[in-house]
Amino acid sequence: MIVRPARILIVNRGEIAIRVARAVRELGHIAVGLWTDNEPGAAHLAYCDEWVHLEGHGHAETYLNISRLIELARRHDITAVHPGYGFLAENDGFAEALDREGLVFVGPNARAIRMMGDKAVSKRVARQAGVPTIPGSLGAVADLAEALAIAGEIAYPVLLKAVAGGGGRGMRICRDAREVEANFEAVQREARAAFGNGDLLVEKYIVNPRHVEVQILADKAGNVRHLFERECSIQRRHQKIIEEAPSPFIGDNEPLRLDICATAVKLARAVGYDSAGTVEFVMGEDRSYYFLEMNTRIQVEHPITEEITGIDLVACMIQAALGQPVDAPPQEAITHRGHAIECRICAEDPVTLAPTPGTVTGLATAFPQGTRFDHCLYEGLEVTPDFDPMVGKLVTRGMSRAVAVRKMHAALDGLAITGLVTNIPLHKQILADGAFIAGKYSTDFIEARRPQDGIQTQADLETIYRQLASIEAANMGL
Ligand code: ADP
Ligand code: ADP
Ligand code: MG
Repeated sequence: MIVRPARILIVNRGEIAIRVARAVRELGHIAVGLWTDNEPGAAHLAYCDEWVHLEGHGHAETYLNISRLIELARRHDITAVHPGYGFLAENDGFAEALDREGLVFVGPNARAIRMMGDKAVSKRVARQAGVPTIPGSLGAVADLAEALAIAGEIAYPVLLKAVAGGGGRGMRICRDAREVEANFEAVQREARAAFGNGDLLVEKYIVNPRHVEVQILADKAGNVRHLFERECSIQRRHQKIIEEAPSPFIGDNEPLRLDICATAVKLARAVGYDSAGTVEFVMGEDRSYYFLEMNTRIQVEHPITEEITGIDLVACMIQAALGQPVDAPPQEAITHRGHAIECRICAEDPVTLAPTPGTVTGLATAFPQGTRFDHCLYEGLEVTPDFDPMVGKLVTRGMSRAVAVRKMHAALDGLAITGLVTNIPLHKQILADGAFIAGKYSTDFIEARRPQDGIQTQADLETIYRQLASIEAANMGL
């Protein structure tokens, strides 16, 4: 067990680096941030106690450069390293390398990362642990012929999926044999280029699927807890943009909720999990659910779970890594209260969904009670194509789903970002959609309901001006 204060290096940037730095300092530790030539004035630095220069250009020389990060950690007398999400967060080699140097990785043990990092291996581990998995190939398929044979057995539609995939990439739905033939090589190529591994799985595409995931919190003393579920079915390009907790699809079906949460705990135990992590499932129309993958890191949408359980996941993750007891009660005392929603605020065209780099010229907020905004925005921030387009996460909480949705409408109205095209108008359209309001939506929501078609750019500009005027009025106390 390490006593405080520990010097914790945050090898990430953007909103998650800020979130981590705040937790580190709140716990009485020292937050050491990294700055790069690409982003010398990054927002997260203001939240750190110390700053270290990470030289180099591009991700490979900076945030993905294991040897340089370890050298910096040694030079600056670091105790523990927090990876955030993305970059090296799910790299077992990094966790192992830190271990060898006597440095603490703020995440799970390297073996658990390795077992869950490959979608073919994790599926096999899940099946062995008695967790339902999606029908399909047992491991990577050898070639197109095998893919076609398996697709024929499990029946169409099927999904071609990269075993090393992540961030929604390396995936293609195929409705018949012709589509498998047409897509197989392209997905292989894409996977090889993006993840350095062209191996593919073939699995049944669950029709009208809901994405339901369970938050795990484990520690080094062998306690494995769940913090209930989140639903993340509002996606574009297989990437989440709105998440909520609890899941409206599970609703008040308490036996189903407890069953899926217990299944996630079973898997976490089977892999010797010892940190915060998420077990993702896809749930079919009949509410049968199947294991998708386990994300062995803190997740983008962790705040909604924090809002309904009152547990600080990032703080607990740091405590767990340092071998300390975590600030969470035993399982039977963990409860959830009310409802929370998160909208991912991205520098993204609300209609085409394409990234929209730009420079922030102004930020004004006037939020209702029950709002949390985790972000890395400031006047002058340049959003470049070098990093993920997500610049903030707007979270609202209410005693019921209806209240949380109502508050989200008000929060979106109270968020004015100028100089940057964002997806805020898209969020407003989604929130106003009847299917969303009813909580009856699946992952094809954006494609099926096309909320972007309702966006009128000129009208939105006028909304922004009205918003700015009302924010100014609010700030003047009118
Ligand atoms: P979450 O469920 O936390 O949203 P995502 O899969 O969307 O998880 O990934 C979170 C972040 O990590 C995103 O910024 C995404 O771009 C990045 N990411 C995840 N996996 C990979 C990967 N294999 N390669 C590159 N980036 C990734
Ligand atoms: P990633 O590592 O990119 O997050 P996932 O395996 O978690 O990959 O899949 C991303 C999303 O794709 C899921 O949230 C889900 O909506 C969809 N998806 C994945 N596999 C299936 C499937 N077999 N059937 C239906 N939807 C799926
Ligand atoms: Mg996933």
